[in-house]
Amino acid sequence: MSTAYLNGEYLPLAEARISPLDRGFLFGDGIYEVIPYYCGQSVGLIPHIQRMIDGLAAIEIKCDKSLQEWTILLDDLIAKNQGSKHNLGVYVHVSRGTDTIRNHAYPVDVSPTIFCFTFEIKEPEPVDRSNAATYTVTTTQDLRWKRCHIKSTALLGNVMHYQQGHASGNSECLLYNTDNELTEGSSVNAYIVKDGVIITPVLDNQILPGITRRIIIDSIIADGSIKIEERTVTMDEVHNADEVWISSSSKEIAPIVQIDGVNVGDGKIGPVWEKAFAIYTAAKFTHS
Ligand code: PMP
Repeated sequence: MSTAYLNGEYLPLAEARISPLDRGFLFGDGIYEVIPYYCGQSVGLIPHIQRMIDGLAAIEIKCDKSLQEWTILLDDLIAKNQGSKHNLGVYVHVSRGTDTIRNHAYPVDVSPTIFCFTFEIKEPEPVDRSNAATYTVTTTQDLRWKRCHIKSTALLGNVMHYQQGHASGNSECLLYNTDNELTEGSSVNAYIVKDGVIITPVLDNQILPGITRRIIIDSIIADGSIKIEERTVTMDEVHNADEVWISSSSKEIAPIVQIDGVNVGDGKIGPVWEKAFAIYTAAKFTHS
């Protein structure tokens, strides 16, 4: 049984209790993060916490924990779950808190609910093109809200798009806006590779500023051997790309070999993925 953190207390996960009047439950009124720790070593801890602090500010949840206090809390939780011997993801959730009635307006004197727990994640193995896992995706118009840069716990739009991919036997669903431009996937950022150049959509209100995306861009630029661009990507470019990838803290960089049943390039993992994955893997624990 894993140990969870709830409002200042460490306790067995199965014993954690939150009121049904919590606004996270009633409205999805909260912010969350998922941070990977491999045998106690985190990936992107500081940017993850900073993104959460920014998200809380964006929706005016007053949580007075500093970046340093968050780091200590999460490191303690990892230690309590024998994190030095396991690969663990930490789920961190801050809702606006528990009110006495159900009312849309933000309550004034309510403390945020802070809930964190860990779960096992897969071991990062050295992989190359011959043994890496491959993924397939479907595509659909992005029908989520216009504040996708906020990592809200209200994930129904994402869940419904993820389900579209899942129900059709795919690993993800790539999304495009009304101008036929790629945004991201339901739970991942997206990239194409054309003529050796990696291209990923710019950060705006249509996509989450992924921490894995940040580490990929920074490490590729620092390495200098592959060109990378942040710009608008049309769906025509996606369908004509040499390689297509998705990224997230749990998938790292995952190569897509089929889109809507049609092969990407020759239907095999491409050489740029292999190189980029090696660069990312070498940089991920040191990025901050
Ligand atoms: N986009 C969406 C919609 C996500 O939910 C996620 C996280 N699962 C990502 C992108 C990737 O973000 P990160 O690299 O920080 O995990």
